[in-house]
Amino acid sequence: MGKITQNKRLWRRLIVRHFDKPFGFAQDKLSISLPSLQVAVLTLVISTGLLVIFTNFPVNAIFREQERNIQLSNSLPVVQKSHPLPATLEQWQDKTNSGDYFDQIKSTKVGYLIWSTFPVKVKVETLTGINEQQSQVWVNSVLQAIQQWSIYLPLQVVQKSDIADITIIRKAPPLQVEPNGKILRARSALTTYNLYTKNDILYHSFTILLSPSQTGDYVLSAARHELGHALGIWGHSLLQTDTMYFSQVRKPPFISLRDLNTLKKVYQQSTSLGWSVVGNR
Ligand SMILES: [Zn+2]
Repeated sequence: MGKITQNKRLWRRLIVRHFDKPFGFAQDKLSISLPSLQVAVLTLVISTGLLVIFTNFPVNAIFREQERNIQLSNSLPVVQKSHPLPATLEQWQDKTNSGDYFDQIKSTKVGYLIWSTFPVKVKVETLTGINEQQSQVWVNSVLQAIQQWSIYLPLQVVQKSDIADITIIRKAPPLQVEPNGKILRARSALTTYNLYTKNDILYHSFTILLSPSQTGDYVLSAARHELGHALGIWGHSLLQTDTMYFSQVRKPPFISLRDLNTLKKVYQQSTSLGWSVVGNR
């Protein structure tokens, strides 16, 4: 509704949330907040839900995602172009033709969620005041997930939050409240992206909350799965042999050929991210 001011100093923020929930029901929420007073214009809300159902094993979880766009402004950017493939993906070849699940991946208003500046900087955070040893085990699992993806896209672990592109925090996602006020059960993960402009270039950043209720191998598999979303796989596989399968399984799979074929295809798509928001008016 209305137009976005083309003020160069204006920072636009889009918040997209992705909830993964271990028990019962989960929902992903995507919303844009435009904090600037100059912009009373753009409203976008996308909700995505993940449904998780337990069977006999406390690990089997079905995630169901839904996406809802409410009032997409047509004045938000801009040109969408592809970036050169990162060398790591360029070199990567699947000789077995294992296929992909690219048809399950969603584009967004700004195109595919593609990084174009490498290495992507990742900050891992735990809250203070918790068991030091537990916290270290958790950090190690998350670092392992980062290491596994970094073979295919350059990632760098950083200590400073303010330079991080992706921040992974050991923190319970906020409880989801239904419109009727009923509080639903806790989610296991919440992955959110923000859009902003800096020097007229459109960028994104990701925040991943991983619930402390996830322990053991599930920390690694949850971190690996959510990182997959943050690296651009904004959707789920239908095969349980893929990291991006929509459900948590008893034996979490490694990053699969299909995950990588999908990732590579995503990075061949166009996006507004990493490109100027002016000059295309
Ligand atoms: Zn997911």
